[in-house]
Amino acid sequence: MLPIERQNRIKALILNKRNIKISELSQTLQVSEMTIHRDLKPLIETGMIIKTFGGISLNSSEAGKLDDTQTCVFCSSGVDERQAYRLILSNNQIEVACCAHCGLLRQRQLGDDVTQAICHDFLKQTTISAPDAWYVMDTSIHMGCCQPQVLTFQFKEHAVKFVKGFGGNVYPFQEAIEVLDQKMNPNHPHCCQADKKGR
Ligand SMILES: [Zn+2]
Ligand SMILES: [Zn+2]
Repeated sequence: MLPIERQNRIKALILNKRNIKISELSQTLQVSEMTIHRDLKPLIETGMIIKTFGGISLNSSEAGKLDDTQTCVFCSSGVDERQAYRLILSNNQIEVACCAHCGLLRQRQLGDDVTQAICHDFLKQTTISAPDAWYVMDTSIHMGCCQPQVLTFQFKEHAVKFVKGFGGNVYPFQEAIEVLDQKMNPNHPHCCQADKKGR
């Protein structure tokens, strides 16, 4: 794993857990604690994380951003935590989208400026890394957020089982972005506006 990849993993982990021990990071990422300290240096310099005894903590202002009730960066809807999709930008700013639909579209808009993204497993509600997640579209279950709806799963196996029961298709990350983009052709109003037009 490249240092930049490890740093992105560390960002996702710290956003999820808020506090982590260096020894835990070293175990999870299978590198020495010395290497972890090197990886952490730029993250500490930007103020995203702070050093604690034997570990690191998420900077409290960043943690506050995670807890705030916020509006979606893409469609300005209110954010329901269970469906929230968070993007971590290259300057370590955090953006929140109301659901994977807006998260993926925002991700496409920003491209390489997004260094990591996290969302929730639909079944277990655990925080998962968005690039490693599985995306379900065109299912019969409606969660009441943006259309076309995108649900996120940690395991492909779970997504496949879900689709067997409730219909839909399963896509990996990049494909999900492309498929969603195709669905969102310019003549088609964005979901969040479509409701207001009383479609
Ligand atoms: Zn949205
Ligand atoms: Zn949404």
